[in-house]
Formats: sequence, C-alpha cells, structure tokens
Amino acid sequence: MTLVEGKLHDGDLTIDADVVVVGSGAGGAVVAAELAEAGQSVVILEEGPYVSPERYGRMRPSENLRHLWRDAGLTFAIGLGDTPVINVMMGQCVGGSSVLTGGVCFRIPDSVMNEWVTEHGLTDINPKRMEPVFEEIERRIHVEEVPPEMRSRSTQHFLNGLTALGMDWAPMRRNTQGCNGCGRCNFGCPHGAKRSVDVTYLPRALAAGARLYSDCRVDRVVARSGRAAGVVGRLLGGPERKPRGKLGVRARRVVVAAGAYASPLLLMQSGVGRRSGQVGRNLTLHPGFRVMARFDDPVEGWKGALQSAYSDALEGDRITLTSLFIPPGALAGTLPGIGVAHQAVAQAIPHMAIFGGMIHDEGGGRVQTLFDRPYMTYRMAPKDRAAVPILMRRMAEAFFAGGAREVYLPVLGLGAVDADRLRSIDLEHVPASVLESGSQHPLGTCRMGVSPNGSVVDAFGQAWDLPELYVADGSILPTSLGVNPQLSIMSMALRIAWHLREKRLPAS
Ligand SMILES: Cc1cc2nc3c(=O)[nH]c(=O)nc-3n(C[C@H](O)[C@H](O)[C@H](O)COP(=O)(O)OP(=O)(O)OC[C@H]3O[C@@H](n4cnc5c(N)ncnc54)[C@H](O)[C@@H]3O)c2cc1C
Ligand code: SF4
Repeated sequence: MTLVEGKLHDGDLTIDADVVVVGSGAGGAVVAAELAEAGQSVVILEEGPYVSPERYGRMRPSENLRHLWRDAGLTFAIGLGDTPVINVMMGQCVGGSSVLTGGVCFRIPDSVMNEWVTEHGLTDINPKRMEPVFEEIERRIHVEEVPPEMRSRSTQHFLNGLTALGMDWAPMRRNTQGCNGCGRCNFGCPHGAKRSVDVTYLPRALAAGARLYSDCRVDRVVARSGRAAGVVGRLLGGPERKPRGKLGVRARRVVVAAGAYASPLLLMQSGVGRRSGQVGRNLTLHPGFRVMARFDDPVEGWKGALQSAYSDALEGDRITLTSLFIPPGALAGTLPGIGVAHQAVAQAIPHMAIFGGMIHDEGGGRVQTLFDRPYMTYRMAPKDRAAVPILMRRMAEAFFAGGAREVYLPVLGLGAVDADRLRSIDLEHVPASVLESGSQHPLGTCRMGVSPNGSVVDAFGQAWDLPELYVADGSILPTSLGVNPQLSIMSMALRIAWHLREKRLPAS
C-alpha cells in the first residue's frame, strides 16, 4: 500500500502511470479503485493532507475545520441580485468531502434522470440502466436505513409536527455500519462507522497497487499529440501549506475529480472546454436554510444520528426537508444576541431542535477567476427565491405543530419568534442581505451532455475538446438533484470507471 504525504517529500516529484486521478473524494476514489483493480497503474493526487480517522476523530471542531475543510469551511458564493451570500462547504483532505458527510445516501431521483434523458439527451442514464450501478455503490459503502432508535429527539419533534400537519416523511438511508449515534459525522467518524471513501474505496485502490500522494496540488492538465498526457502542479508543505517542489505526472489517461469548485478551474487553467462556453457555469448549490426551535422539555439533539429522516412533502415548491444537528459549541455561534443576551439563548441549546430545508435549484451560479483568484457567484432563479419564505414558514409551522415554544429563523437580526408573531411576519419581503444560507452540494460546473456546444464533457465524462481527459465528480451533473448528492456522484463516477475499464489505454 502506497500513501505518500507530499509535505514530507523533499525536492521535485516526477511519476509515470497509466492513469492519473486528480482528487481523492467521492468521485475520484471510485474511479481509482475500479481502474487499479482492473490492473491499470493508477496515481491519485490530492491537494489536501492525509488525516487518519484516529487523528480526525480526536480533533476539536475548530482544528478539524482547519485541517479537513477547504478555506476552513469559509468559502462563499457571492449572491447576485436578490440572492443571499451562501457559505459553500467542501472537504480538502484525503477522502474529500466524503469524510465530512452526514452519511445521507439518495439515488438520483427517477424524475431527475427522466429530465436528463428528455432535456439533455442522456438516454443511457435512466433508472433501468443505473440500477446495477446504484446497487454496487450501496453494497460497497454499506447503505442502510437509520433505525428509529437512532433518531434524535430533535428530529422526532419535527417529525411529530409534520405528522400533525398531515405531511409525509420517511427514514433516511446512510452509508454506515455499526453507528453508535455519537453525532460527529460532519467532522469525520471517529469509529470508522461511516463508510466514507477514505475507509472504503481508497484502501481498496491502494490494496490493488494505486499510489496516493497527499499535499499535491495540480495546476494544469498537460496535452501531447492532441490528447491529455499528464498533469503538472506543486507539492505543498510547511504550516502555511505553501508550494514547494514541482510535481509532474506522465499518464496515458487523466481523470479530473477535484469537485465542482476546483475541476472547472483546472480545466480553465488548462485551456480545456472553451468551445462549449460552459466551463464554470451552471453551478447549482441546493441553497440550504436551517430552522431551530426551542421546546420546554430537554431535547439534547446531539444524541443520535445526525441525520435520520427527510420529507419531500414540499416537493411541489422544490423544497426537500432533511434532519440535521450541529454540535453545541458551533451552534452557539449561530444564535442571536451578544454578551448576556447571547448567554441566555445559548443556555437553551439543550432544549433546541433543528431541521434543514434545501432548494432543488436551477443553475444560477458560476466559478471563475479574477487576477488568478477563484471566486463563485450565484444568482437565485426567481422561483427558487420565492421558495425561501415558503420553506421558513412551513418549517416553523411544523415545529409549532410539534410543540415548540418559539423558533429561530435563518434571518439575521431576528430574535425568537412565537406562533403569533410568525403569522404577522412578512417573510416574503425579508431582504436577501439578512438571509443565512449554506450549501454542501456544489454541482454542475463541467456539465455532461451530448453536444460540444452546450456541455463540457460527453456522456462518459470525456472532455469534448481533449481526448483522454475525463471528469468524474459532482461537476458533471447536468442539473441539481433536490437530494444529497454523494451517492449520485459516486454512481456517475462508477459508470465512467466501468467504461474506462473496457476502453483501451492509448499508447504511451
Ligand atoms: C459538511 C458536508 C456534509 C455533507 N453531507 C452529505 C451527506 O450527508 N450526503 C450526501 O450525499 N452528500 C453530502 N455532502 C456532499 C458530498 O460530500 C459531496 O457532494 C461529494 O463528496 C462531492 O464529491 P466530489 O468527488 O465531486 O468532490 P470531493 O469529494 O469534494 O473531492 C474533491 C477532492 O479534490 C481535491 N482537489 C481539489 N482541487 C485539487 C487540485 N487542484 N489538485 C489536487 N486535488 C484537488 C479536494 O481537496 C478534494 O479532496 C456533504 C458535504 C459537506 C462538505
Ligand atoms: S453518528 Fe455514527 S456515523 Fe456519525 S460519527 Fe457517530 S458513529 Fe460515526
């Protein structure tokens, strides 16, 4: 098994391989394992550090953010027009964002695949053809339904409210095995119970002979004789993770899986995809909003699976409701008030329940650069923006129906709201500048399609204008999903990997 920490390597690094995979997250790990097991020599390059489960399991949240998250969790999409600033969270470590998930696993909804078939011409990505792909991923990462006894009281209170209002909900499925409900999932599972790719696909890839290099940032894809022939970049080191030695990999095939934020940047820097005019465009985020509620009885929402149930009762408004919880220390920082006033609210944390709502959005965002600095912008489509007050009101009503005393809406400057006040608040006219929104699901910036004019990669992830360059991560999804995307991304990556297993490697 070869895992080299680039930060410990002195000097430059030059490597030869059949296939180089850029990024070790949900998409990259699947491709690497499948191709290594098919006998190809695979090198995986990861910009982030390697942090073992034993280490990340012991880290306090602030330390964890610094070591495992891109920009310590503070990457933002600038809101254009009537759109809030959106905090976009991503992993930057061996295992990528997969390490940080709540474990929630959804297949690509049939309605979404049908849209891909009819409106994007992706006729092979249909429920029947994808069934064995989903099954294989679910088996490998052990997707199971969260049992009722793992449900937190926070989630149960909200579900009681949904039931009282006649709204449907269902238990979630997660990639776990032996979960004890300690609720730390978003900082990496300390018990190996969450089957993220750092404990599933990457060990498989390494066991089959793949070489994984952490602390290696790829800057550019190299082309030779009209096809992709490797990558160049830098090794990162020191406390500031500054570039040190040079990195070069010669390969017969390049698979970019750096995620929906970094993959388009890499393609732009390499001059790939210009003809489509779509690189970095069509960014979707599933903008998310959190509603909290205070109950008279203790809730202790940190006890139990972080995410255990969801509701699609508001699907008609393009809203999905999903359970979540935030560790009390981090939660305190999101509560209103300062000093003594804040102390009073924070003391109520043991009585707080939380639920999340996200919008099945249209592609209103873009990743680009200014003076070599990357940034994201996002403009909410009018119908997505119109869903925000609906989301807040219906979630608050569900909490009140479940017995909440007061709710905290994701509106800066607004304190606790009781049921009477909720009826009188003009949520439809809350300005975007005071809305608090977050996203863990950037998608779509190198979208897949059937024509080089409207898409960046073809139906098997190959760049239209550079043969042997493949993209296999969240960036290729042609639309948002309305559900958490890891299983969908892994399935799309597996479909590409199965294709590449059969496709002859070009001569070196
Ligand atoms: C906090 C959090 C919670 C989430 N919870 C869930 C959940 O419960 N269920 C769910 O379905 N989804 C969840 N997601 C989303 C899910 O994790 C991602 O959609 C998925 O992992 C994305 O896969 P990817 O392969 O596109 O990118 P990633 O998994 O992010 O992998 C990309 C990797 O590429 C590396 N990289 C980037 N640029 C370079 C470069 N230039 N050179 C080398 N390496 C590079 C990055 O460091 C990263 O490790 C969550 C995400 C977060 C952040
Ligand atoms: S709740 Fe389960 S999956 Fe999440 S960190 Fe704890 S043991 Fe791991």
